Amino acid sequence: MTTMTEHVEQDLRAAGLRCTAPRVAVLSELRAEPGHWRVDEVAAAVRGRLGRVSTQAVYDVLDALEDAGLARRVQPAGGAARFEARTTGHDHAVCRSCGAIVDLEPGSRSPRRLPDVGDGFVAEAVELTVWGRCATCAEAATSEDRAVVVTDPTPHPDPPE
Ligand SMILES: [Zn+2]
Ligand SMILES: [Zn+2]
Repeated sequence: MTTMTEHVEQDLRAAGLRCTAPRVAVLSELRAEPGHWRVDEVAAAVRGRLGRVSTQAVYDVLDALEDAGLARRVQPAGGAARFEARTTGHDHAVCRSCGAIVDLEPGSRSPRRLPDVGDGFVAEAVELTVWGRCATCAEAATSEDRAVVVTDPTPHPDPPE
């Protein structure tokens, strides 16, 4: 059976990257838990494996992985960069309240067609970002509204003695 580490090393080599310990650790962490990781989150996980690794070193590894097509950077406007191991084309929905990022499955909207930008611009990808609120934040917002409606502002009188 091929272990995940062996897979990671194979993929690094296939992408023309040397298998340094930080690269193996970063890519293994990204793959171990699918999602959209902030650099500091990746760094914390990698430190759990390797001990002292600077956040900048982790950032450099993520950059290299992105260049090699082994990781994808997601950077919603105004948000911190996130990285994910899922590099196949998919779009994202971003929660305005907590910043949670949800993958949109391919096919959840009409096929992306490259626009003709003109001026010799060579279009390579179209990304869609859906902004809104995740279920948790939407629920919290609704109960806040409800709280405003049901809260009785009159102070309760002390019980008679
Ligand atoms: Zn949220
Ligand atoms: Zn994603």
